[in-house]
Amino acid sequence: MSTLIPISNRRPRQIPRVFDFQTSIETIRAHHWRVFSDAYSGCAFTCSYCLYKGPGDYGRHVKVSPGSAEADPSMGILDIGTTTDPYQPIEATELRTRGILEAALAQQIPVFLLTRGTMVTRDLDVLTELAKRGLIEVCFSVITLREDLARTLEVRAPAPADRLKAAEQVAAAGIPVSFHVAPVIPGLQSPAEMDRLGYELASLSGRHVFNAVLGAQKAWWNTFYGVMEGAADAIDSLELFRAAYPRELDFERDAAVNCGLSDALSTLLPFRDGVTRGGATFVAENFPHLTTGPLEGGIYRWKLPTVYDMARWVSAQTGPVDWGAFSAWYAGHTPGDRLTGLVRGLWDQGELFVGTAVGPAAEPGTYIGGAEIVETARTTLVARRGARK
Ligand code: SF4
Repeated sequence: MSTLIPISNRRPRQIPRVFDFQTSIETIRAHHWRVFSDAYSGCAFTCSYCLYKGPGDYGRHVKVSPGSAEADPSMGILDIGTTTDPYQPIEATELRTRGILEAALAQQIPVFLLTRGTMVTRDLDVLTELAKRGLIEVCFSVITLREDLARTLEVRAPAPADRLKAAEQVAAAGIPVSFHVAPVIPGLQSPAEMDRLGYELASLSGRHVFNAVLGAQKAWWNTFYGVMEGAADAIDSLELFRAAYPRELDFERDAAVNCGLSDALSTLLPFRDGVTRGGATFVAENFPHLTTGPLEGGIYRWKLPTVYDMARWVSAQTGPVDWGAFSAWYAGHTPGDRLTGLVRGLWDQGELFVGTAVGPAAEPGTYIGGAEIVETARTTLVARRGARK
């Protein structure tokens, strides 16, 4: 393996500012990460559906994120790539993402790295060292195999075929690879295309294919709608898209609007079939009951439980579960007082298991598996860069 940049002997300890990840029901629903760190602010890939895309010249002035934090193994799984892609063009000279990886290696911090960037192959040396210790999963974001759709929606991001080539290189180096299909846009691709997408990604990964449905943001909604309407001849069904996401939406502060389960199923189910046939686990971030298996082993030894994991645990118990029994299990994951308080509040309000097959039992404050699935709330909380507590 050629190493273009030697792994730093200085063993860096500082990484860009770190933020708590699980801060709401939306993030607890699907994300196992404890904290996230973004190397840059802004993203030169400027995808038209980006949750973090601001108005105006977003993406034209990508900057190095200010501030830094001491890398600390107690921070748990670190997610890189939440609000900006870690392999921006300026990463070639700034080496900010590489610095995070080197700090993680030095401090033995497990990392989930999400990218559309092909520059990730530059860092195979440090990623391989992390992989030898079970400390990394590299997740490639790919929403379509079709170059024409990618060129319409992800104008400045590397082509899907190039991302798949990079994923093959990373996997060939013995580094765990997964995929993230976000956003899933009902109507964009046919059921057969979704099946093939799921199959191809699962075959390449053999591990996990994560997915999240489109979160509509007020700031770009009209522009995005115009892009979809302009691509009517290329996409599978503009009608399906319009039914799932009407042009007029009620936007909430800090949240993006998702479609409902019934509007997503005709897209998600063939996709899930393809993933299952390809031999990977389908992880549905909005609709936990569609998930086909647990996240275990590798970096997931340090994960926080998601709502899927919590519901799975409740379902495995005989009879109803009260907060005392649940919190004894939950505390084993060392979530911290603040997060436990949040989960307790959601437990008391009956919101924790919405979207799963766990529901309230006869005794107040108790839950039991096998109940009817309640549709999830139709929002995605946009990760906030609040100070870490
Ligand atoms: S690569 Fe990710 S962060 Fe960057 S513009 Fe696209 S969706 Fe947004």
